[in-house]
Formats: sequence, structure tokens, C-alpha cells
Amino acid sequence: MKHWMFSCKEVTQMVSESMDRDLPRYQRIGIWIHLMMCKFCSRYRQQLMSLRKVLRSQALHDENNEPHAKLSPEARERIKKSLQRNDLETETTKDL
Ligand SMILES: [Zn+2]
Repeated sequence: MKHWMFSCKEVTQMVSESMDRDLPRYQRIGIWIHLMMCKFCSRYRQQLMSLRKVLRSQALHDENNEPHAKLSPEARERIKKSLQRNDLETETTKDL
């Protein structure tokens, strides 16, 4: 039973991990039990979840409006060049 009891530090860490990947069953149960008893951690989890939701909708929003907004001019130039190189290669292959 003892290994089911996680500390607040462990729980908050695992909660944020669980946002990105699936946790083992015993960890999820342990978190769930802890959250039932610990207001601090359940609030932390709620805040984290709403934060993630905001971030995700924000990311989608940006993507829809301007797909390359986050690329620096250098990166854009590099992509343009690599695209041109690909075109050249396709041309060469076609001739062969
Ligand atoms: Zn806690």
C-alpha cells in the first residue's frame, strides 16, 4: 500500500508528465488517490489542464492565421533553398 502513497512533489511531477504521455496504471491510481485527499495537488492539476487547453488553442490559432510566423527569416531562406534544391533534383531525375 505504501508505494501507492505519493508525496505532493511526486504527484505534481507525474501529473505534468501525464499530460504528455501515458503513465503506468499504478501511478495513475496513486495520483487519483492523492488527488482525492490533497486539495493542493488537485488544484495544481486543474490549473495545469486549463493552461494546456489555453496553450493548445493558442497554438492552433497561430497556425491558422500565419503558418510560418515563428520562423526566422534565415530559416525561411533555408527552407526555400532546400525546396529549390529538391526541385532541381526532380528535374535531373526526370531527364534520366
Ligand atoms: Zn498533494
